[in-house]
Amino acid sequence: MRMSKLYIPTLREMPAEAEIASHKLLLRSGMMRKLVSGVYSYLPMGYRVIRKVEQIVREEMDRAGSQELLMSAIQPKEIWEATGRWDNFGPEMFRLKDRNDREFCLGPTHEEYFTNLIKDEVKSYKQLPLNLYQIQTKYRDEKRPRFGLMRCREFIMKDAYSFDVDEESMKKAYEVMWEAYDKVFTRLKLKYKVVQGDTGAMGGKISHEFMAMSDVGESLIAYCDHCDYAATDEKAEVVYKAKENIQKELKLEKVYTPEITTIEALVEFFNIEHSNFAKALVFNVADKPIIAIIPGDRELNETKLCNYLGIGGHELEMADEEMILDITGANKGFTGPIDLKKEVKLLIDSRITKMKNLVVGGNETDYHLKNANYGRDFTGEVVEDLLLVKEGDICPKCEKPLKMDRGIEVGNIFQLGTKYSDSLGATFLDENGKEKPFIMGCYGIGVSRSVAAVVEQYHDEDGIIWPFVVAPYHVIITIVNVKSEEQIELGEKLYEELNALGLEVVLDDRNERAGVKFKDRDLIGIPIRITVGKRAGEAIVEYSIRGKEEKLEINIDKLIPLIK
Ligand code: ATP
Ligand code: MG
Ligand code: MG
Ligand code: MG
Repeated sequence: MRMSKLYIPTLREMPAEAEIASHKLLLRSGMMRKLVSGVYSYLPMGYRVIRKVEQIVREEMDRAGSQELLMSAIQPKEIWEATGRWDNFGPEMFRLKDRNDREFCLGPTHEEYFTNLIKDEVKSYKQLPLNLYQIQTKYRDEKRPRFGLMRCREFIMKDAYSFDVDEESMKKAYEVMWEAYDKVFTRLKLKYKVVQGDTGAMGGKISHEFMAMSDVGESLIAYCDHCDYAATDEKAEVVYKAKENIQKELKLEKVYTPEITTIEALVEFFNIEHSNFAKALVFNVADKPIIAIIPGDRELNETKLCNYLGIGGHELEMADEEMILDITGANKGFTGPIDLKKEVKLLIDSRITKMKNLVVGGNETDYHLKNANYGRDFTGEVVEDLLLVKEGDICPKCEKPLKMDRGIEVGNIFQLGTKYSDSLGATFLDENGKEKPFIMGCYGIGVSRSVAAVVEQYHDEDGIIWPFVVAPYHVIITIVNVKSEEQIELGEKLYEELNALGLEVVLDDRNERAGVKFKDRDLIGIPIRITVGKRAGEAIVEYSIRGKEEKLEINIDKLIPLIK
């Protein structure tokens, strides 16, 4: 591809809305563009990366015996009603009606649809096990779409579904998928951990999440260096232990809280007066509602607060009439960007004496304690104490101290059991002619999110450093001065030869300053770089690898074997 022809609208300036590296760099390098919040277009360069990730996923799924097909994004309400998820999925589901008022959703996931597909078609144990997958766009009306490809409302997922005759063979299928996922993420060069996960909206008992390690990851992981224990913060058993302990020692009264997702519900449940605060923001951290109370005259930097709360645990914090926690620190009068963690701590400290009878608890329905008081019930770092699991908590498996880290959930596998086959009446006849429900598993990989995860792990201040396997192109040849015949000639020759070798090559033949070309080249992050400059007459070029310091002046005869 010639850079002069390539549609790659790079940006010199940092996009203002982007906070994390992958979001910034994928926009700046012209790989993608936003349409509306959480909805992106993949431009030619970015789409090449997406397709490479898809291809790796495809190869490993095929190798593991899964068969690819393609289902629709539109799904009728009826199949979702059968499993109860039409209601339970909540506002994350995009719903629509056709001209006859029939209801549909844009699939956030496809358990119902796949189960419905094979139901009545797969009738015998002889047709099992069966494993089907697709690579397709999913739709989730996320409460907080953010971080570019990380949390979108439309995104590409690989989803697979396994159907087995019994628990044992389903577990085998699960293991095979696990291995395939290991291969995928290893090929993507991601540094990742596999952790026990919550089964949440999918149902079932056992699930594992594949977490690409990253400080900007939205998932918190508790893990142990002394044994193999690793779990999401939600799953970590210490959570429950810690909660029990608090309750035992402090003899606090346990209250049963509903899942509060609206201001009205909050006001009602805690019996507070609406007039005490101007605004309560209710939003999700790790899919659980948290509530921040904002005094009338303040705008909250929501992202910062969410980041802060994401790190510091997610705490429902409520008080009676005079004791509303001003989490923005409004009465300190600051305006600019704020260090929320510090401010919240200061605020809490300054109010310790005044506060009493708070409702505190884990970010989970029914895990709240009444009449908690700072100072008495919480000592030291108040905010830290409110964490569910924290660094140093005891590992539930070996009792050594736990460590905490952040990760990006790039994959999730579930042992579903019969939740879907039971409710949709999907059965087969076993060896004895007896009717049985399929034992199922489901397996997701965030294809587009994985691209963001790769960029998070592979970049520097100048741009992306693509691992070879997912790079949009393998080689970039930069002609330093397009007014030089010699340089053009040599550049073109190399371009042809490398293309003939089956390499994917970009020739930067633009009439631009060398500096601009070098900056773009760093930004786009193509791994192998050849600079055709002053020594073109001697057939000597400069060879370097993106992300590495060394530069080699080399004759092209020697260069080609080096790249091959
Ligand atoms: P999260 O915890 O981040 O909300 P999830 O657990 O809801 O993700 P799953 O239902 O397990 O997601 O979906 C399978 C995979 O799809 C996830 O592991 C993730 O890689 C990807 N994924 C889920 N939601 C999004 C999203 N909003 N944007 C991009 N990728 C997503
Ligand atoms: Mg989710
Ligand atoms: Mg999750
Ligand atoms: Mg998940």
